[in-house]
Amino acid sequence: MTRLSSYLLPTEKQPPADAEAISHKLMVRAGLVRQMGAGMWTWLPAGWRVHQRVVQIIREEMDSIGAQEMLMPVLQPAEPWRKTGRIEIDELFKLTDRKGSELVLAMTHEEAVTFHIAQIVRSYRDLPLIVYHFQVKERDEPRPRAGVLRTREFVMKDSYSFDRDLAGLEESYALHVGAYDRIMDRTGLRWYRVEGDVGMMGGTGAHEYMAPCPAGEDEIVLGDGYAANVEVALSSPGVEKVGEEYLKDGVPLSLEPAIEVGNIFKLGTRYSEPLGASYLDESGAEQPVWMASYGIGPARIVAAAVEQFADEHGISWPKTLAPFAVHLVVIGKTGTPEREAAERVYETLRAGAIDVLYDDREAIGPGEKFADAELLGCPLRLTVGKRAVESGEIEVQVRRGREPAPSLRLDGELEGLVRAVDELWQGLP
Ligand code: ATP
Ligand code: MG
Repeated sequence: MTRLSSYLLPTEKQPPADAEAISHKLMVRAGLVRQMGAGMWTWLPAGWRVHQRVVQIIREEMDSIGAQEMLMPVLQPAEPWRKTGRIEIDELFKLTDRKGSELVLAMTHEEAVTFHIAQIVRSYRDLPLIVYHFQVKERDEPRPRAGVLRTREFVMKDSYSFDRDLAGLEESYALHVGAYDRIMDRTGLRWYRVEGDVGMMGGTGAHEYMAPCPAGEDEIVLGDGYAANVEVALSSPGVEKVGEEYLKDGVPLSLEPAIEVGNIFKLGTRYSEPLGASYLDESGAEQPVWMASYGIGPARIVAAAVEQFADEHGISWPKTLAPFAVHLVVIGKTGTPEREAAERVYETLRAGAIDVLYDDREAIGPGEKFADAELLGCPLRLTVGKRAVESGEIEVQVRRGREPAPSLRLDGELEGLVRAVDELWQGLP
């Protein structure tokens, strides 16, 4: 049921007093998310729709490389974390249960997945294997900030590949590069894949997927066919820094703030050795399993999309992420012909499997309805009022680019309306 008169979409005229990032301001103002505490956020229905659109894109691409979806717990025994040494990490939440057992809240799932693989995988015949889940991560971030960009609890898709040797690992890694590239393209974001730094995960190679945006905490240098994190740029061939400027082969590079939305790591045997994940090869010799891990944060992708495409009126979603395809506005009270016409349009679009949010609120004027529609940023806005009934045409506004769109016939066959909206949709970014 997506009638605004009964839908939970608490829009606000003012952003939260402490908000600096565009995505923080707009996602709260548009009624997508609400804060509960420092780095703790609730996704409201429209926001969750966007989050789940990203989740679905990721799921399809993971399934396409043969990864198998499962679910591991957030609450875990501390023991495997002691074995890998990661119990020492400050971001890791530690707790004790009523019996005095030490537990942790997982910040990522290498320990859990390797614990299982150590028990399950026996022989080279059990490999290769790729598993993944969408699961909550808990991290005691030193500085939660910028709305849902950096929170202490967030959903991550993390996948893990298990191979018999380095060559196998490279293959699984290459499959993920392909899947991640497709995921990023499908989200509609502007993005770059850059060489990563291996950081706390330990490992032998990594890439980061970066989305340029004003609230980004990292900086990337960009040139023709070249992108790198500023911290590692100077190790690329041909790159030098002259004063404040970066050059590649003498050509100036541009600098842009960006946020990391995905991260893939070659772990090698960093986790399989301490946790005893090994297999027997053809000659019966015991070998360590070679691993890689791959993370991506749907919330960051959502916020980065808000940052990249917002304008002075509000959010402007890429069509693959929009909470609804159509925001239908009726101007006219119950009992009027315009209300009747809008109801018919709503039911027709719904029957035609088009995601439509219908602003049927009685006591809200057209100005406020339009402002809310711009703020929420659905790709198409359809307006049905007196003028539409008189002229037989529904006014269409395309959110992105704001160029005038051809109006749709109200008086023709209603199925024609679904087809016309579908056609308009095909042409949208
Ligand atoms: P950062 O350097 O920004 O702290 P990270 O290196 O800690 O990120 P990973 O551990 O590689 O991040 O996590 C994989 C993905 O999970 C990130 O690419 C990002 O999309 C998401 N992510 C990580 N930390 C957060 C957070 N605090 N809030 C929301 N999403 C996060
Ligand atoms: Mg981090």
